[in-house]
Amino acid sequence: APAASARGLIKTYGQGDTLVHALRGIDLDLARGQFTAIMGPSGSGKSTLMHCLAGLDRASGGTLEVGGTQLGTLDDNALTIFRRRHIGFVFQSFNLLPMLTAQQNILLPLELAGHRIDDTVRERAQSLAGTLGLTARLDHRPSALSGGQQQRVAIARALITQPDLLFADEPTGNLDSAASADVLDHLRRSTREFGQTVVMITHDQAAATYADDVILMQDGRIV
Ligand code: ADP
Ligand code: ADP
Repeated sequence: APAASARGLIKTYGQGDTLVHALRGIDLDLARGQFTAIMGPSGSGKSTLMHCLAGLDRASGGTLEVGGTQLGTLDDNALTIFRRRHIGFVFQSFNLLPMLTAQQNILLPLELAGHRIDDTVRERAQSLAGTLGLTARLDHRPSALSGGQQQRVAIARALITQPDLLFADEPTGNLDSAASADVLDHLRRSTREFGQTVVMITHDQAAATYADDVILMQDGRIV
């Protein structure tokens, strides 16, 4: 089965005569381990599509199956649990906690989930940091890291729970081109090495070349 599958997905904001048709019938299959870039002009529905796929927002119509679960059948609680178990996020602004070291930031999702932080878990964080080229930076606070390093910490933090799908919203929007290439390379590697399914919104043509597939959106549709 695909990692995610949408049929006739519709999202309408507002009501009465102020309706905004953000998604006008999306059909989409994301294969497991596929790295997909979503591109398109501002207002074309990229964020709305990502938010629906990630279970952050509910569709108004159509069906959406992610990891074998029909998201429309979940109540709000179940949707939150689904997100914690299966979904990771990376944002344009790295959203690291400034008082915590890189390693503490990476471990945070496990701590928040009530996981005991023992040697096994610390080793997992260190091994993941190793694959992201962060071994020498683990004891540093975010302010002592470059932008690219901070984003790689954010990726490690998103991967520590081993999510099936990783969503990245403009992950290179705050990075120079060398750091961007590095971050994109690591995103692509996580699909190859861990079988992660990665969906990235980007405005950057160069970033899109790292993806297996590019979805171009316009006016709520995939064109
Ligand atoms: P993109 O990410 O491609 O810029 P969005 O998904 O953010 O596009 O927006 C698609 C359309 O939906 C736009 O017309 C936008 O103004 C509208 N929209 C997005 N979020 C909301 C919201 N919460 N309430 C009302 N309209 C919204
Ligand atoms: P190791 O033999 O050290 O476990 P792996 O290549 O299997 O090496 O994994 C490297 C790191 O990535 C480990 O810390 C592992 O826990 C973590 N990892 C493994 N699978 C996933 C996954 N699906 N998503 C995120 N991280 C993962």
